[in-house]
Amino acid sequence: MATDSGFSIDIDFSQDVDAGSRQRPLDGGLVLKIGRWLPWNEQDERGQPVPDQDCWRSLLEWMSDAWLYLRHDTTEPLRLLGKPLSNNPALWWDEALDRWDSPDYDSDRASKEESDLVDWLNNHDISCGLPEKCGARVVFLRVGAQCMVSCPDGSVTLGLEEALTELTRCGDTLAERLRGSTLPADQALVARWKSRDNTSVEGRLAAFGANVQVLRALRSSEALATWSLELDAVDPNANPLLLAARACQDELPTDILSKLLAQIREIRERPTPVVDELARKVTASLRRSSRTKPFRQGYMAAATLRSRLGAATGAIDPVELLDRWNVAVQHLQLGTEVIDAVACWGGGYGPVILVNDDGRHAQGTNGLRATLAHEIGHLMVDRWDCVPVCDVSGLRSRLPHEQRANAFAAELLVPQDEIKRRLIPGCQVTAVVTDLAAEYGASRQLVAWHATNSATELDSRAKGALRDLCDEDDTWS
Ligand SMILES: [Zn+2]
Repeated sequence: MATDSGFSIDIDFSQDVDAGSRQRPLDGGLVLKIGRWLPWNEQDERGQPVPDQDCWRSLLEWMSDAWLYLRHDTTEPLRLLGKPLSNNPALWWDEALDRWDSPDYDSDRASKEESDLVDWLNNHDISCGLPEKCGARVVFLRVGAQCMVSCPDGSVTLGLEEALTELTRCGDTLAERLRGSTLPADQALVARWKSRDNTSVEGRLAAFGANVQVLRALRSSEALATWSLELDAVDPNANPLLLAARACQDELPTDILSKLLAQIREIRERPTPVVDELARKVTASLRRSSRTKPFRQGYMAAATLRSRLGAATGAIDPVELLDRWNVAVQHLQLGTEVIDAVACWGGGYGPVILVNDDGRHAQGTNGLRATLAHEIGHLMVDRWDCVPVCDVSGLRSRLPHEQRANAFAAELLVPQDEIKRRLIPGCQVTAVVTDLAAEYGASRQLVAWHATNSATELDSRAKGALRDLCDEDDTWS
């Protein structure tokens, strides 16, 4: 059974009186547990329709078809949806419906988003494997080496392999059940399940979210002609070049993407003993806070780093820190505002941060500091536990590790304690924020946003002033 931080699917066939009878899989026959929630069984108690015996077959079909996506796909569908929704993927459909239904929402855009989200959910929502989708949504989302499993009540995050092992246990149980069947369709289904991992390189790449044509074009460029993808031997998610190629494929023309990747490839692995040691300490300091909200973890991690650096207060220069730590920072011009920086660590590359001087935030001094502080957050916290090994900043994201890195950046640049000390009832909010921004080398928007999340004692006038500052400029310059 699942612990409060895990998930499990247990099937009890004892209610199956004879092979042809109706089963009640959501009524105790199948117990799906996510943390402390029982999303399907609870739904059944509320009188939802109960599927018949085809439920088992249809679940196994779904798992066989979705397997590659569950294993390889780290695409973030929120990028497809533009404006962020909540951070619970099991709620995205209902939230998106509200948006699409609003009269001023562009109808072409709504239909494109709808078809993207339907496609994505078909491969990530296991309730799509129930006949007539009779259970609540239960969505699997790979994040680096971890898997977030969500139902409408909430989410748990566990190791990807752990999640896949539990699904395998369920699939094997169902396949075993069907093995004795003489129906050709059942035999074919068992064979499909058994061969779920054996697919072509292109099949895996497609599940991974890469555009195969783009990858082929990149490999044909001179700069990347010797780029060994070794796709059938290497987990694509451990390859920063592939991750960068996939993240940027919709944002950059192939020739510019090829230059970017060629530059990353030049930065072979560099020794960074100081940052490695600091990251171990910072990561260890968060171990006991795995249930804490991501933005709070970001604050805690930045405070730990500041204390390790002996800099509890005062401005910090991310450029100087990265230089001292031997992390490569290189500048290039990508001709687009969408991407601020691409950072890679692991897979034999870097750590390296490539800054796009044309990036919306990175083109300003304070925005560049915030971008680099965000990447320092990943270097401190995400190198071993989450391991995306590549981060593209500037793209909108509501994933927990991105929220954590943003909060980390704010706290590293401007400590909360300092904000709370100065932002007291009755103060001139705009003047205080302006002073803090100038002193700490951050934009007024970043300080105001950080203050909104940190200072709870403020009256409504002060909160209104902070809101106005948050809205005034989104380039962080
Ligand atoms: Zn990031």
